[in-house]
Amino acid sequence: MTRAEAERLAADVPKEPYYAGRWRAARGAAAFDVVDPVTERCIATVAEAGSEEVDEAVRAARSALADGPWGKLDGSDRARLLNRVADLLEERSEQFAALESLDVGKPGFEPRVIDLPQAIRTFRHFAGWADKVTGRSIPTPGYMGRPTVSYTVREPVGVVAAITPWNSPTMIAAWKVAPALAAGCPVILKPPEDAPLTSLLLASLIEEAGFPPGAFSVLPGRGPMTGQLLIDHPGVDKISFTGSPQTGHKVAVAAAKGFRRTTLELGGKSPQLVFADADLDAAADGVAVGIFANQGEVCAAGSRILVARAVYDDIVKRLVTRAQGVRLGDPFDDGTTMGALISARHRDRVARYIAAGVAGGARLVAGGRQPERPGYFVEPTLFADATNAMTIAREEIFGPVAAIIAFDSDDEAVAIANDCDYALAATVWTSDVGRAHTVAGKIKAGAVAVNGWSPLDPALPWGGTRLSGHGRDLGWAGIEASTEEKTVTVVL
Ligand code: NAD
Repeated sequence: MTRAEAERLAADVPKEPYYAGRWRAARGAAAFDVVDPVTERCIATVAEAGSEEVDEAVRAARSALADGPWGKLDGSDRARLLNRVADLLEERSEQFAALESLDVGKPGFEPRVIDLPQAIRTFRHFAGWADKVTGRSIPTPGYMGRPTVSYTVREPVGVVAAITPWNSPTMIAAWKVAPALAAGCPVILKPPEDAPLTSLLLASLIEEAGFPPGAFSVLPGRGPMTGQLLIDHPGVDKISFTGSPQTGHKVAVAAAKGFRRTTLELGGKSPQLVFADADLDAAADGVAVGIFANQGEVCAAGSRILVARAVYDDIVKRLVTRAQGVRLGDPFDDGTTMGALISARHRDRVARYIAAGVAGGARLVAGGRQPERPGYFVEPTLFADATNAMTIAREEIFGPVAAIIAFDSDDEAVAIANDCDYALAATVWTSDVGRAHTVAGKIKAGAVAVNGWSPLDPALPWGGTRLSGHGRDLGWAGIEASTEEKTVTVVL
């Protein structure tokens, strides 16, 4: 699809809140502009959901749940609807991929190869769980001399507010929406204001799939406005949030007021450990993808590259070659391998980190500049001779910038990997199976990959600890996070 076709598609996407089974012009005067990160032009103006829309959407969701049309559906009905969403996404995946490239600024092949297939598989995976949300039968010794039968059932947690970031909006919306719907929860999605278009298109497709009114809503708006109204609303039972630790903290505070449940998928500063026995070619390729994919705007970006001293110079050389091979450009041009960052503000933030790397004494070996052209581009950037104490090794940059750090032993590699405020993901490159398992066991992270960067799958639990948050999306963990386990004991 060409840029002009994607722009026409953007013009046709509904740009207002959807709830109670209808698209609604927001009654407040507020609206926000969506800017194309590559051309810096406004590609859409979207109506912002205000307090009335948030309140009505929550009410509609609550009534869909309590004896409403959604609550009455059984698991196999929910499975059918979720499979229908997957089918429609599959049919329109080219359109979604083009719109995602336009909205986020990422090269065309990435949504085609990663985001869309993952989103489709996520809806299918959770369609598979929808009629298998079972409890347990638990043996008990009896009560006051009488025998007992005890079992548990899993019930929907209630209305789920799903709040998503801009870096992979379709895929992350699927991660949050599909498990909650599979479990029987009504979902209200608050998409990112910087890139809301694919979430709005997803909403129109969920509508087309035939979900009953109130089962799914989308409320576009800015975080401190619509987002805050939604997380403060007492009718929301659970907040499923993916975004920065700073906003995650606000979500946790709002949720604590009513002891409401949260899943917080926050940032990362993930290590990629390259041992001397690794296949160095494969490691260099994988490590480069791990930091440069999606412009480095990935929660699991491997922004701390820890390399055994024996192969340090070799790996630095190979990574510099990979960085120099990256082609920055328009996502709609053939051959572009890296697009633009999401906004001028974010580009400036990344540039400040690059300046901090230089000022902190790390050796800039690749990139570091912003090309002279429109768009929020930053070159893929590598710092060698970095230490784990430097700002560029400690704070999440969320751009194509990595610190390369040397280590002298396995213990030191693990110690550096774990000396971090975040604990989301890690990658280990080694050809020694014993070392692979030992190191994977010692690393503090929600997900460790060996010899391949971040092999995501909807069947695998996803999430972290520390500043990376808590709780898990995906797999059975996603169903557990969307249900309450109720115990029933019958005294016979
Ligand atoms: P962000 O925290 O600024 O925004 C995320 C979402 O929260 C947006 O929809 C925003 O509108 C909303 N929001 C902002 N303020 C709010 C408030 N006061 N109340 C309610 N909602 C509010 O994050 P971002 O810049 O969009 O995304 C980048 C961050 O997301 C990075 O830290 C990245 O690591 C993280 N992320 C994590 C994962 C994961 O799975 N762990 C995946 C992708 C991105």
